[in-house]
Amino acid sequence: MALIVQKFGGTSVGSVERIASVAARVKQHRDQGDDLVVVVSAMSGETNRLIALAREISDKPNPREMDVLVSTGEQVTIALLCMALHEIGCAARSYTGSQVHIRTDSAHSKARIMDIDRARVRADIESGRVVVVAGFQGVDEQGNITTLGRGGSDTTAVAMAAALEADECQIFTDVDGVYTTDPRVEPKARKLDRITFEEMLELASLGSKVLQIRSVEFAGKYNVPLRVLSSFEDSGAGTLITLEEEGVEAAKISGIAFNRDEAKLTIRGVPDQPGVAYKILGPVGEANVEVDMIVQNIAEDGTTDFTFTVNRGEYEKAREILERESAELGAREVVGDNRIVKISLVGVGMRSHAGIASRMFAALSEEAINIQMISTSEIKISVVVDEKYLELGVRALHQAFGLAEESTA
Ligand code: ADP
Ligand code: ASP
Ligand code: MG
Repeated sequence: MALIVQKFGGTSVGSVERIASVAARVKQHRDQGDDLVVVVSAMSGETNRLIALAREISDKPNPREMDVLVSTGEQVTIALLCMALHEIGCAARSYTGSQVHIRTDSAHSKARIMDIDRARVRADIESGRVVVVAGFQGVDEQGNITTLGRGGSDTTAVAMAAALEADECQIFTDVDGVYTTDPRVEPKARKLDRITFEEMLELASLGSKVLQIRSVEFAGKYNVPLRVLSSFEDSGAGTLITLEEEGVEAAKISGIAFNRDEAKLTIRGVPDQPGVAYKILGPVGEANVEVDMIVQNIAEDGTTDFTFTVNRGEYEKAREILERESAELGAREVVGDNRIVKISLVGVGMRSHAGIASRMFAALSEEAINIQMISTSEIKISVVVDEKYLELGVRALHQAFGLAEESTA
């Protein structure tokens, strides 16, 4: 008998009919003898609806109250799922994050899980119940409700699996696994049977929202076997996220990620002196604006142009800071563009293969897509392009690297 943690995302519990079908799936699995802990998200659209309600009242809602508000979405689904399980004769009990004692730090809206009390959940499992836990939420040391960031139910599930030493954590969603890229953008995307934690982490952090980044970090750290599956169809084994297998040569490229949430800012004609990067980015960092890519070019006249990207939601804030700084820095001008996207190629096999970048740039140039910025690491290459080229760019790269076909590399 195994202990399995199963997580069902927003669309999987998006209506009472869907909740009933999740209940049927859970019962069927339970009847086979495994112990189950089920983590659920809010019904699809609910978290956005709650955020919009808060915005109608305040431009800057209090973070503590915001978490009290948005955590209610998951409380609705745990109760409804338990009721649906009871209706079909399956013993089950629901718990909010704070009832389980999913203890987090106090960083509202992006809290980190510190510790989980296993006792209560274990007692229920031992008495034969399915335990249904609200995703996305926890409680800090002072008893305040916290939330884990958008998509955080994935992290709740992996953390529960780690704490209970579960045999597997299964993430049920509206696709039947992790694909070579988002199948909504490239219908020819291919489902991967396996992907390494390292690659999945890179894909997630570069914008593939199929798993929340922290859930992958957590699974890697505690070695939790993690699987992505469809809740809509019985589609087989899904995608297993695993440690790198020795002896098996990795595919050069495992996937393409993209992020639409990007904006860039350039400060032009800054005197090229020591400390300039710090003077530009210091105030940006102090305002808690995260900077991603950075490029600096030196002009012949000895001045420098400094460009960086930020999250699109923080574009105005960052721009105001730069405009304030620019006079003091003696800069010529500040320009920006919040209609850009980032497209990234990911693959551990890049380490041992040359020429990937030039193939990437060739494929984009054949489609006349202008590359605005480039950044690389050992296992990824990212480019910034105009947002109108997102779909075209992703499909061109998917084609150029033969990702629709089974890899033979
Ligand atoms: P849930 O509500 O179940 O948490 P999400 O919307 O968060 O579901 O994640 C599933 C979605 O992730 C899919 O519908 C798909 O559009 C998107 N996605 C992005 N990149 C990928 C990828 N590489 N493989 C599969 N799905 C992806
Ligand atoms: N309901 C939360 C969100 O929409 C958490 C989740 O779905 O994982 O972000
Ligand atoms: Mg999700």
